[in-house]
Amino acid sequence: MTAIQDSPVVSPYQRSVASYWNAERNPVNLLLGEVDGTYHHHYGIGDADWSVLEGPEDTRHDRTIKELHRLECAQADLLADHLGAVTPDDRLLDAGSGRGGGSFVANRRFGCRVDGVSISEKQVAFANEQAEQAGVADKVRFHLKNMLDTGFETGSFRSIWNNESTMYVDLSLLFAEHARLLARGGRYVTITGCYNDTYGLPSRAVSQINAHYICDIHPRSTYFREMAANRLVPVSVIDLTPATIPYWELRARSSVTTGIEEAFLEAYKDGSFQYLLIAADRI
Ligand code: SAH
Repeated sequence: MTAIQDSPVVSPYQRSVASYWNAERNPVNLLLGEVDGTYHHHYGIGDADWSVLEGPEDTRHDRTIKELHRLECAQADLLADHLGAVTPDDRLLDAGSGRGGGSFVANRRFGCRVDGVSISEKQVAFANEQAEQAGVADKVRFHLKNMLDTGFETGSFRSIWNNESTMYVDLSLLFAEHARLLARGGRYVTITGCYNDTYGLPSRAVSQINAHYICDIHPRSTYFREMAANRLVPVSVIDLTPATIPYWELRARSSVTTGIEEAFLEAYKDGSFQYLLIAADRI
């Protein structure tokens, strides 16, 4: 595989993001993935079962890991619920696909072809290996590509999503590429953290999250402005902020903390940060 470093379409910033994900081995990502072989690198939603923090000490860790994974799977399922009336003949794009969990969820649900792209060669290799092992490599493929410049054919995708990957790119460039790739009438979905315009500019906690992940959390307004500028018309907007707080509270009390938990909780609770699902139609 050609190293992303050799690609002319990648900026020095994108190289640093690729290095971060190439080196990433956080237990919160790997142990949760091992629960059932579906590796998600996003956050969870829904009410948590707090009883996992009690009961026999020797099984507490495993029960907490399973519960965090269940909440992350619920998030992936909600995103898939918004991908529209996808048929087995359709093709989907998972933009910023991580270790591939979301692509496998969509393939299992719709039986269709799914292409995932990531700028981390480690992630792409891992996810393709998973596809081989699951016997779906003919349908689910991962590519070392910049989602701003994929080279895929114009109009070839029924639906595209970004699950917590929009904060690594300029939205005007991202949505221009998505509008090009989506068939007319196709669906775009994102789940993302954004900063709240009503708060002002990014709070200290939001800035800490940016520094932690080397990303640039956009304001809520930019999503809608850039969608409107790129023929993407919102059809559903769900504020998932209250639904994600239990996940963060459980994670903060688990053995798989990464040190960023308190910043997320502070940012959600002081109103400076929001966790949103936005679904839009390509007109
Ligand atoms: N959507 C996945 C992973 C989210 S982590 C999930 O839900 O599990 C963010 C992902 O965005 C990483 O895989 C990272 O490599 C990818 N990414 C960041 N910038 C990118 C770019 N310009 N092109 C493609 N992928 C990118």
